[in-house]
Amino acid sequence: MRVSVATAGGTFSSLFTVVASGIQAGSGPSVVQTYQVAMSGLNNLYKRLSASGARIISVSPAGEESPAVPVAASSAPAPQAVTSSPAPKKKPHANVPVNTYKPKTPFLGTVTENYSLVEEGGIGRVQHITFDLSGGDPQLQYVEGQSIGIIPEGEDANGKPHKLRLYSIASTRHGDNYQDNTVSLCVRQLEYKNEAGEQIYGVCSTYLCDIEPGSKVKITGPVGKEMLLPNDEDANIIMLATGTGIAPMRTYIRRMFEPRERDANGWTFRGKAWLFMGAPKTGNLLYDADFLHYEKEFPDNFRYTKAISREQQNAKGGRMYIQDRVLEHADEIFAMIENPKTHVYMCGLRGMEPGIDEAMTAAAAAKGLDWSELRPQLKKADRWHVETY
Ligand code: NAP
Repeated sequence: MRVSVATAGGTFSSLFTVVASGIQAGSGPSVVQTYQVAMSGLNNLYKRLSASGARIISVSPAGEESPAVPVAASSAPAPQAVTSSPAPKKKPHANVPVNTYKPKTPFLGTVTENYSLVEEGGIGRVQHITFDLSGGDPQLQYVEGQSIGIIPEGEDANGKPHKLRLYSIASTRHGDNYQDNTVSLCVRQLEYKNEAGEQIYGVCSTYLCDIEPGSKVKITGPVGKEMLLPNDEDANIIMLATGTGIAPMRTYIRRMFEPRERDANGWTFRGKAWLFMGAPKTGNLLYDADFLHYEKEFPDNFRYTKAISREQQNAKGGRMYIQDRVLEHADEIFAMIENPKTHVYMCGLRGMEPGIDEAMTAAAAAKGLDWSELRPQLKKADRWHVETY
């Protein structure tokens, strides 16, 4: 149990103590925050806690323990336990919201923006699309590393409504506007030729890539607890992404390094983060300018390594893939993995997995270790996170 004390401001002399447990991302212990706030600041604090999904445990005049003061703000969650004792022990990830909106009763989000992420020379269409979630009852909340479902308009070939498709969320829980009321996705329009040689476009990805601001979209979820960040501010995070698999990595990196996110989180990342990104062309390096900026601002904490398959060659003269970059740095990566504070996240094409295992197998063998035994241990310790298609 980690208890931290934060001050929420306020000027009146009558101070209150608010104890809340926050949304828990990762498998660490439950986080309890204690706030000292003036009466005039109580409403704002309730709103902030409510928006972040925190649960208020107790509210009492400063210096006293219970009884709790009734919670007045309508948007705030009701205090569920009137006690000043620590939050009850919960299962890992127990506070992470899942399936707030189900396919039969989806939330109707409104598109607020839809812009291209592909720069000059890049291949295909990849869009960054944001939905306004406000007005939901309950509000659709999520944490970094989760996904949402989208149900496209229209019917399939059998006249049935389309089924939902899952997309990794690309925004932090605070949203790109820091207002706690939006969610963003990073979507590539699926296109391929079928056996008859016809050009086929993905139903849902085309629907999303073409969608106009103002349109209403059926949203379900959030889902997923595989890709949650640990709560430890000193953790090390290795990220391996191909293409739109960058979505969860963008959320982690914003949570770690975007100043307004750091302020909003009360979570100050101090570990080492290393992003490996695989893309076909320089113009397909999604969110590249942001990552370069963070690398410049946080040189001791953030490292960014690219594999640009159609512009760079691996040691064998083939296309440079992310696993080739992992192989180049295998000893360094393996040394990081030996540290129990290190977590690895992989998202994107399933094809990258065998190559990454090969690189780790060689690095482990150099130290007399067996990767096939180590990997399941890392998985069991919730330090090896994979979401690949
Ligand atoms: P993209 O822009 O086409 O980039 C994919 C990159 O990976 C290219 O550089 C590609 O190289 C390379 N690549 C191809 N085969 C590879 C292999 N066997 N090992 C390593 N790298 C390889 O990517 P995209 O179209 O966005 O695709 C990303 C994939 O991730 C999609 O399949 C998507 O469904 C999946 N995805 C999964 C999740 C999830 O599981 N939550 C989330 C988002 C995306 P070349 O094309 O030059 O050969």
